Amino acid sequence: MNAPITVPQANPGAGYRAQQAEIDAAVARALTSGWYILGAEGRAFEAEYAAWLGAAKAVGCANGTDALALALRGLGIGPGCAVATVAHTAVATVAAIEMVGATPILIDIDPAHYTMDPAELAAVLAHPPPGLPPIKAVIPVHLYGQAADLPAIIAAAAKHGAAVIEDCSQAHGATLGNQKLGTFTEVSTFSLYPTKNLGALGDGGVLATNDEALATRIAALRQYGWHTHYISDECGVNSRLDEIQAAILRAKLTRLDANNARRQQIAAAYDAALPAGLAAPARRAGASHVFHQYVLRSPDRAAIQARLRAAGIATGIHYPMPVHTQPAYLNRVALGPKACRASEAASAEVFSLPMFPELSDEQVDQVCVAIKQL
Ligand SMILES: *Cc1c(COP(=O)(O)O)cnc(C)c1O
Repeated sequence: MNAPITVPQANPGAGYRAQQAEIDAAVARALTSGWYILGAEGRAFEAEYAAWLGAAKAVGCANGTDALALALRGLGIGPGCAVATVAHTAVATVAAIEMVGATPILIDIDPAHYTMDPAELAAVLAHPPPGLPPIKAVIPVHLYGQAADLPAIIAAAAKHGAAVIEDCSQAHGATLGNQKLGTFTEVSTFSLYPTKNLGALGDGGVLATNDEALATRIAALRQYGWHTHYISDECGVNSRLDEIQAAILRAKLTRLDANNARRQQIAAAYDAALPAGLAAPARRAGASHVFHQYVLRSPDRAAIQARLRAAGIATGIHYPMPVHTQPAYLNRVALGPKACRASEAASAEVFSLPMFPELSDEQVDQVCVAIKQL
């Protein structure tokens, strides 16, 4: 018999309870305002998020997948365009490319950091596979809370006139060279799903850009293409952030930096407890990692997970199958020359320890004791 789980892998309810009074007041404020979609709370959240990030503009939307699709649409990318991204990511990254009618091409990862291999990207941009539409954009994913190799990716894309969209859905507050991720490229996107470093209590997403005209265009696209009410200047979608979620996110944004610091503290405790056979997650030089996930890797993953489970500790796998091996994408998505072999190898071995800011010191100790004994 397994012991009950005493350390969950993620726990968005704990995030709510940690700020319950503030969040309840924010929800009450939104409810009593009488305005539920695209109102004062949403505008305030956008302004506060842009200020916190250091971007000129933020635009809220319904979720992180839509944020990517709106970024692509905003840049004029759709049918007849290819978009390069990675296979080792949330399927949402690839789904968003197909949502806008573009064609994905998947680049392998650098296995140390689990992010896009810039050398392979450069090779694919220089010699795209035959039959692929022109590659008009690149979406690097800052996976697990750490920066992709942005300077090399941006340089490769710039050489070929491709736009870059940072998928920051796991990296709210992470930096590279003391600059926040999400401020390096023409537009960036963030999921606000409940378990993300900044999470709503429902769905949400936000885009950031320094280009005011692009922000205006994306804000119109998220609501039927309206620049003025009831007049669609172009075809848009419905992807709005509601006022209740915006009010909640304003409260949660005030804790984001402290919560990221707590995640880093938990990661350091785990690092110190790792036995010889398990390597600590690599940290990119000059970058700060905000540990959306604390990911280890082992060929004995199943046995390790079972031992931790027996000690009451839940683990996760992010992600068990690279996108191109999932049934919906199998044998129909273009791959770079490395055929995503490092992504496949990583998917077979990675597992994620419990990671959320509200883990108690006792729970962190419980995990440390268990991993020391692995
Ligand atoms: C969560 C996530 C998304 C999708 O966000 P949703 O809000 O669930 O649509 C996209 N990309 C990455 C890397 C993610 O982690």
